[in-house]
Amino acid sequence: MSVYKCPYLAQLTLQQVRASAPYILNTGAASCPIFGQLARQMSTATTNTATSMKVSSPPPSFDEIKAAHEKIAERKRISKIKLPTALNSYNEIIISTECTDLSCPFLKTTPIALRRVDMDQDIIEVNGKLGKPIRPMIDYKNLFEYNTFFDEKIEAKKRDDSYRIFKRVQRRSGLFPQAEEKKHLDEDHDSRTMTVWCSNDYLGLSQHPELKEAVINAVTAHGSGSGGTRNISGTSPLHEKLEQQLARLHQKESALLFTSCYVANDTTLYTLAKGLPNCHILSDSGNHASMIQGIRNSQVPKHIFRHNDVEHLEELLKKIPRHIPKIVAFETVHSMDGSICNLEAMLDVARAYGSITFIDEVHAVGLYGHNGAGIGERDHLLHKMDIISGTLGKAFGSIGGYIAGSAKMTDFIRSYGSGFIFTTSMPPTVLASALAAIKISMSDEGRTLRRKQQENVRELRSKLIDAGLPVMMSPSHIIPIHVGNAALATLLCNHLLDRHSIYIQSINYPTVERGTERLRIAATPYHTSEMIDQLVEALTQVWKDVGLSLKDVEQQSGIARHHN
Ligand code: PLP
Repeated sequence: MSVYKCPYLAQLTLQQVRASAPYILNTGAASCPIFGQLARQMSTATTNTATSMKVSSPPPSFDEIKAAHEKIAERKRISKIKLPTALNSYNEIIISTECTDLSCPFLKTTPIALRRVDMDQDIIEVNGKLGKPIRPMIDYKNLFEYNTFFDEKIEAKKRDDSYRIFKRVQRRSGLFPQAEEKKHLDEDHDSRTMTVWCSNDYLGLSQHPELKEAVINAVTAHGSGSGGTRNISGTSPLHEKLEQQLARLHQKESALLFTSCYVANDTTLYTLAKGLPNCHILSDSGNHASMIQGIRNSQVPKHIFRHNDVEHLEELLKKIPRHIPKIVAFETVHSMDGSICNLEAMLDVARAYGSITFIDEVHAVGLYGHNGAGIGERDHLLHKMDIISGTLGKAFGSIGGYIAGSAKMTDFIRSYGSGFIFTTSMPPTVLASALAAIKISMSDEGRTLRRKQQENVRELRSKLIDAGLPVMMSPSHIIPIHVGNAALATLLCNHLLDRHSIYIQSINYPTVERGTERLRIAATPYHTSEMIDQLVEALTQVWKDVGLSLKDVEQQSGIARHHN
């Protein structure tokens, strides 16, 4: 090994120095006497023998440096040998940890970065200072313009009126179903109370005293976080209790918690589809983005059946060989049109063709059935449902998602589902509040809340129809009003808020298809008849203000009233 007496180069082999030489020569030779010497030497050296340099030698001339550079470049070309390099892609000279002082007086003014490298660590030290190495000049021409790309994409959203500006809602405990609209983030002077008609806190449980108390007790007893993934210190008794409770609610052997139902749907469908050999998926055309994501990512063959169309489902099932594993995935209560599927027919047809069923009950849990387990419970079909997914974020007033099903199936997802395994588990506050919510849901109080909610939904739907508004046919608690135009739907929503302190969110693409934009209204047990009247009057007013016409009441009521 040849060594140089420069403290920086001392740790490098001659080969390494040679490999770095073109860059060193170009940038350091004029400033550093040792590099200068090296430059001169490189221009004449032909051997691999050890060479010492005298620090006192005068710096080389520019021509000498150039000649040395060219010679080395030529040698590399001819030999085609890839020399071990002491320069990394950032043109830093790598120096071993044995060289302690990196503050070279000569190189301070050059773009050469001296980088000390420990074999185990990646410690960077440049000219004596810790921090980023000095980067050589980069040619910024012809690089991808990230900001231009983002700008164009955002402009496209603005052009088709699908760009979203979130309304800022300050919920106040005890004010439900009202909240404050905060125009400015840090100022209170212009905040005002509005009535919220679009929350998924369907039963107002998020502000229930027992849930609040459970959260406070949990944080006092256990702190704010779970401390890890489920496998690495993040499984507490609360996790297991909640999973048992959810399994009991859905009359299943087992349940598994996720950080949201989006993650539950995505992970479960992806993991099942990927895991089951040659699996096919049959997916309702109206399925939620979370299911679509899991199905798409799995890249297994998928067959889309028309929304809630059992015959079409059967037609597609018939075409797939019987022995092949299949998953039929759909929602019971549809999130955006409020329809409720013919659950029994779907389950029966799926089973007849050897398929398992994945049923999203996100907009049904807490709201239907004796205990609030959803449409499956209401229709006495829980035993026929293979996998049920639900959320803790809507009627259960908190956040999180879950699946419930057989012990073997949940164990499979627990063991293979990336979205379950590789993420921090839910914190104690959320678990405690969900446990309290399910307890209420299964009690008489839960049943009273559900009854009251349904009464309010009926009253509101019927009054909207009487006012001539185009209420979309729906047998559930979700009341969509068809607008069919993104700009108009947004305008209606803004006018309702600005002029009447009523908040209904317009639902635009990509949540619904273009041309089917709507207002989606959800009445809760806590909306009063007075609030219902105010809403109907305000909505009728803004409807006319934006130039929309009201329907013939007789024609309307025939379609929709009997559905709830
Ligand atoms: N499934 C449906 C039908 C939904 O509407 C939603 C959310 O809006 C989800 C799943 C996701 O649930 P979460 O909010 O718990 O992620």
